[in-house]
Amino acid sequence: MPTPLKLASRLDPILPSITLAVTAKAARLKAEGIDVISFGAGEPDFDTPDHIKEAARKGLDRGVAKYTDVAGLLPLRKAIATELSRVHHTAIAPEEVLVSCGAKHSLYNLFIALLDPGDEVIIPAPYWVSYPDMVRLAGGHPVIVETSAADDFAVRADVVASAVTPRTRAIVLNTPSNPTGAVYSRTQIEALAKIALERDLLVISDDIYRSLVYGDAQYVSIAALGPEMAKRTVLIDGVSKTYAMTGWRIGYTAGPPAIIKAMNKIQGQSTSNASHIAQVATLAALTGPQECVETMRRAFDERRLEMLSLLRAIPGVTCREPKGAFYCFPDFSAFVGKRTPEGSILDDDVQLCDWLVEVGKVAVVPGSGFGAPGHVRLSYACGMPQIREGVARLAQSVARLS
Ligand code: PMP
Ligand code: GLU
Repeated sequence: MPTPLKLASRLDPILPSITLAVTAKAARLKAEGIDVISFGAGEPDFDTPDHIKEAARKGLDRGVAKYTDVAGLLPLRKAIATELSRVHHTAIAPEEVLVSCGAKHSLYNLFIALLDPGDEVIIPAPYWVSYPDMVRLAGGHPVIVETSAADDFAVRADVVASAVTPRTRAIVLNTPSNPTGAVYSRTQIEALAKIALERDLLVISDDIYRSLVYGDAQYVSIAALGPEMAKRTVLIDGVSKTYAMTGWRIGYTAGPPAIIKAMNKIQGQSTSNASHIAQVATLAALTGPQECVETMRRAFDERRLEMLSLLRAIPGVTCREPKGAFYCFPDFSAFVGKRTPEGSILDDDVQLCDWLVEVGKVAVVPGSGFGAPGHVRLSYACGMPQIREGVARLAQSVARLS
């Protein structure tokens, strides 16, 4: 007999988001007065640009506080359709766009709309923490495929091909990648597209970091490779990272009308529309001046190079150069299994990260949460002084392990 407090068994395999957990732990320690430097949150430290905030203020004054269409305000969907048509070189109509409460919500709606029990979704590791659990929550089965640092963490097409089964529904592509910062090259994207066409796969292209690429790296759109690819690609995008708007909670999906319609039905029976005032702010972000995007991108680029060189200077650490997003993903496996000065053994990267925050006063996210044990993730979306002090703390801490 189930007790009144019994929870649904679909939750059994689901873990809390480790990125949010690490961020919350660092915030808790700080609130207790402990001086912790957090590289946890994948969240720009910049304030939302003034013209976006001003649009929201003006909106409030004219009574923008009502329900909107479930799919989002039409002018906003038009602006999103225009922007995505430009980026992906394919005609996208406002009816093919759904605005949700963050790209995370877009992805969640999508998996609920797509998956029958046991349907498989191919997810290249290292992956953003939430993909496998969202697939599981939707009743699907995440099929994790490996990448290697030698391939700059881009999944190889032959590896994808060998993971395809009759139950495969889709593959998740995240370029630039969270957590590795990898940016897929045109050749790599073309090879993936070939497999998607041959094996009749849907591609879920999580483009949340597409505006944050550095050096000679370029975002390459898989949907832009031709009409056949455009028809089988679902674009996930949003304003959180590009416009420093994480807390406004606006993300969007563009894709095949049948899928958008199904997601709309789910959203209409769960959250309804995304916040009206945040939609107004997003319209200002997409249609207003774009210099703020470049200013923030340049600042991230400087921080990226600084963090990378400081990390590489730590004996025992190796780190590929991240080409996009705002994360470094160094290999810390040299410190797993080591003994702390307090006498405990750090059996895995989770224990290592726990010790680093408790004793070293620096918060980083364990790689095992991203399917890459032995690595840790650091966000460089924070100020230069924090980067210097935080990485110095890391260096001093690991030097004390034996
Ligand atoms: N995809 C990736 C890869 C991310 O890192 C994030 C970060 N939160 C999201 C999607 C979701 O972003 P949001 O819900 O803030 O739009
Ligand atoms: N996506 C960001 C991160 O990976 C924010 C936290 C989250 O939603 O997971 O840190």
